[in-house]
Amino acid sequence: MTPFQYHRATDAAEALALADAAQCRFLGGGTNLVDLMRQNIEAPAALVDVSRMPASIEEEGNGGLVIGAAVRNSVLAAHPVVRACYPMLSRALLAGASAQIRNMATVGGNLLQRTRCSYFYDAAGSNCNKRNPGAGCDAIEGFSRYHAILGASEHCIATHPSDMSVALAALDATVHLASATGTRHIPLVDFHQLPGTTPDIETVLKPGELITAISIAPSAAAAHSRYRKVRDRSSYAFALVSVAAGLDIADGRIRDIRIALGGVAAKPWRAFRAEDVLRGEAPTRDNFIRAAETELAAAKPTEANAFKVELAKRTIAAVLGELAGERA
Ligand SMILES: Cc1cc2nc3c(=O)[nH]c(=O)nc-3n(C[C@H](O)[C@H](O)[C@H](O)COP(=O)(O)OP(=O)(O)OC[C@H]3O[C@@H](n4cnc5c(N)ncnc54)[C@H](O)[C@@H]3O)c2cc1C
Ligand code: SF4
Repeated sequence: MTPFQYHRATDAAEALALADAAQCRFLGGGTNLVDLMRQNIEAPAALVDVSRMPASIEEEGNGGLVIGAAVRNSVLAAHPVVRACYPMLSRALLAGASAQIRNMATVGGNLLQRTRCSYFYDAAGSNCNKRNPGAGCDAIEGFSRYHAILGASEHCIATHPSDMSVALAALDATVHLASATGTRHIPLVDFHQLPGTTPDIETVLKPGELITAISIAPSAAAAHSRYRKVRDRSSYAFALVSVAAGLDIADGRIRDIRIALGGVAAKPWRAFRAEDVLRGEAPTRDNFIRAAETELAAAKPTEANAFKVELAKRTIAAVLGELAGERA
């Protein structure tokens, strides 16, 4: 590991004052960044530890939540308002990693965790455009069972591994950012970027910019929601495909619907096309399958992950069917 300086910030203002935009990285629970530093994939000159910033979950009058970036994943999953009004978020968090890692991992760090593509982690032996722009991508002709089927490019087919982010995409969450020049708010669906020609650029975050919080707003679809993660083992494994969905039915028609997919793209994939097919329609299995097929029509899998296309369609239809069944 390359030597680095360590600073500890007690609030956002101190974190920004300590940060040197070009050289510094913020440290959350360290469950991803420290692994990457140990393997010399990342080598920041300085870390500003933001895991001890105030970790509050503020309840707004309307049932909305403003979740501090330093809130631990396990704390957020267990929060009574999250469990009652945003069950897909609680379930997504509990589907991730292990209890020990969830106790360490922070909301800010979870959003920014890096891909689990094995070639990305193999700095000594593999070519990777994300790690070393212009080097090539060994995954495209290699082991790609876990890789993307939507929104990939000829430069990178990695997926984003976060479960939490998939639920937040479906919930229309907003990311709160702060820097030396001010604050800004970004819809979560616009926060992560598809690889295009620059897979090394993963989000719209600027150097030295700090995630301070995430906010979510209540809705009937958020309250009647679910997260299902399909994986090779029933715990401690990343998603092959996951679905976060919420459904609001009135007078036998779908009034509001939210669907996001994990394990299929370089960002949490909001299934806007499927939502458009279903809004105003009857909540039937045929309509759910038609919507899933519309969303997956653009899929471009590799030979090794072609199974994900059918898996995603069936998981979407199954989760929506469960939600609709509970309202029948
Ligand atoms: C064995 C294992 C299994 C796992 N399984 C899963 C899984 O199934 N599902 C899943 O979703 N995740 C899984 N994870 C990943 C885990 O959820 C992430 O490592 C964790 O969420 C990262 O949070 P952290 O606070 O530890 O981030 P860190 O490692 O501290 O940081 C990650 C990144 O975020 C940046 N950062 C942190 N906080 C801020 C901030 N406030 N502002 C700006 N930048 C910030 C850091 O600079 C770094 O780039 C697994 C991890 C391991 C080790
Ligand atoms: S898929 Fe992306 S992360 Fe994986 S080797 Fe290719 S460029 Fe690197």
